[in-house]
Amino acid sequence: MTDRQQGDTADRLAQLRGGLSAVEQRIAAACAAAGRPRSEVTLVVVTKTYPASDTRLLASLGVREVAENRDQDAAPKAADCADLPLVWHFVGQVQTNKARSVVRYAHHVHSVDRPRLVSALSEAVLREGRAELGCLVQVAFDAGVGAGRAGVAPDQVPALADLIADTPGLRLDGVMTVAPLTGALAGRPAAAFAELAEISTAVRAAHPAATMVSAGMSGDLEQAIAAGATHVRVGTAVLGARSPLG
Ligand SMILES: *Cc1c(COP(=O)(O)O)cnc(C)c1O
Repeated sequence: MTDRQQGDTADRLAQLRGGLSAVEQRIAAACAAAGRPRSEVTLVVVTKTYPASDTRLLASLGVREVAENRDQDAAPKAADCADLPLVWHFVGQVQTNKARSVVRYAHHVHSVDRPRLVSALSEAVLREGRAELGCLVQVAFDAGVGAGRAGVAPDQVPALADLIADTPGLRLDGVMTVAPLTGALAGRPAAAFAELAEISTAVRAAHPAATMVSAGMSGDLEQAIAAGATHVRVGTAVLGARSPLG
């Protein structure tokens, strides 16, 4: 490494340390405000569009949970970081023809939203001979409203949760959502996260181990923690704004 490269790495490390510490303070404050122990909330750092070198620096700062949303980017990054003690979360839409690649590195897939994907992930897990894959049902509060988010409508969650729980190679871990941009809950993340919490309670009645509630990003992690999120997925507030093309 040249002196210049070493300087750039030190600058980036300082930026990431600053981002992490600011997010950590927000999470701690939100937990305190909600009367929840800090240990109930896991920060998952969304590293999408950023290089593997950033993932490596984050790991050196103690980050253990990272998320990606595109297999094309995530697969080489995970291979590059295979020596690090990281838990990989997949949070983007999964095309069924990418299932085999995703199950090679992902520990949890947060974006399970259709029966066809459940069977593709199951087949891939069994073919790869890997340990059970953790799956979350992605809930869309704007399903059916124009170009809504990926995910299933709230009333379809129980059936998809049961299917995952009954499918070999898969483990039902919980539920996930992204605050809706359209529909009745648009611009009301707190209301959407409260509904997710109710859905989680119903899912846990049938599947007590499905405790993960994945909600909240850079802009709304406080509302998510107030509503009971166990996993917040934060990118921009740790790594900086992504280029619009990312
Ligand atoms: C990008 C992304 C995030 C992180 O968003 P930020 O606003 O950058 O914190 C969280 N969840 C999903 C599903 C994402 O695609």
